[in-house]
Amino acid sequence: MAKAWVLHEIGDIRFEDVDIPEPAENEVLVNVKAVGICGSDVPRVYETGAHRMPLVPGHEFSGVVVKTGAKVSADLEGMRVAVSPKIPCRKCEMCAKGETDLCLNYDYTGSRRDGAFGEYVCVPVDNLIELVDNISFEEGAMIEPLAVAANAVRTGCAGIDPSDNGVKIAVCGMGTIGLIVVMLLMDMGFSDIYVIGNKDSHRDKAIDIGILPEHYCDMRVEEPVAWLKEKTNGVSVYFECVGSNESIRYGLETGAPKSRQILVGNPRGDMSFSRNTYWEILRKQMSLIGIWNSSYRKALDVGSFGQDGCSVNAKGAGTAQIDDWHYVLSRLEAGGINPSKLITHRFPLNDLEKGLLIMRDKTEDYCKIMICNE
Ligand SMILES: [Zn+2]
Ligand SMILES: [Zn+2]
Repeated sequence: MAKAWVLHEIGDIRFEDVDIPEPAENEVLVNVKAVGICGSDVPRVYETGAHRMPLVPGHEFSGVVVKTGAKVSADLEGMRVAVSPKIPCRKCEMCAKGETDLCLNYDYTGSRRDGAFGEYVCVPVDNLIELVDNISFEEGAMIEPLAVAANAVRTGCAGIDPSDNGVKIAVCGMGTIGLIVVMLLMDMGFSDIYVIGNKDSHRDKAIDIGILPEHYCDMRVEEPVAWLKEKTNGVSVYFECVGSNESIRYGLETGAPKSRQILVGNPRGDMSFSRNTYWEILRKQMSLIGIWNSSYRKALDVGSFGQDGCSVNAKGAGTAQIDDWHYVLSRLEAGGINPSKLITHRFPLNDLEKGLLIMRDKTEDYCKIMICNE
């Protein structure tokens, strides 16, 4: 037997004895060493439920392979791994084109099948990403949100030279994803970055990761549109990491001609704009680009990209591109980013619900809450 948090119905999550799952022929059993609580886990547990219940949530995780399925080499036992939670069908038209991240019929660890809020989880061998020794389990558990932010940054900054002085970048929302977006931008060499937050802890974290105090806008005291206009004279790339109508508007009203509006935040409600704001999109020929999840290719397919697949403009047209997961892995390995700075709470598995409740009830400031099983 093993322990796991099982979501039985909305609001009813219990720490229980469960059978250790048995890996199918193309799967491995992973002993979970670290799992982050994602912002999406809070509504999943307390508001909407999961696609299927009972279910063990948890999709941002790392661990050690402890057992292999019949068609998987036993050599993988003992491997330290992070795991891509999205399981493409490999049959639909998008998968056939190689665009498995846009699969029309995917499965998902931690929302559609059992995830990592437990001691063990079974995952397809194709979804494993090996962690080199200098990447900790905690960092491994952060590759999933890092990869989402990498998708945003690599898409938003494709073809833009970080040394070009005219490039002004703004990031609205200093939650985990917004802060990671900033980290990745800095790692790429961008320096003229302006950020918007609304809590003292947002300001502290932003400055801690290298934002200049005069580049931080506290929207409780400053009006972001006027502030951004004054500071930037037109934003080239705007990352919306909140999902609110207002914060999308700030980007549209401050965007430079031909600016890119990168929409990352999950929508909190319906979106609508005044006619004048809408005119800005037309008159300035702005691009609005949606970001969803991240690209992941199994290790076998990644080999052919070679060493230089990690360049800043890896998403440029016509060039072979490394996927977001392996891009993040390479930056962690190189020491270019330090996401552990964002971990504000560490709990053992049996205290996982404390973390969920802190996030639901906002009883304390938090950024990333990590469950550590070591
Ligand atoms: Zn997530
Ligand atoms: Zn598919």
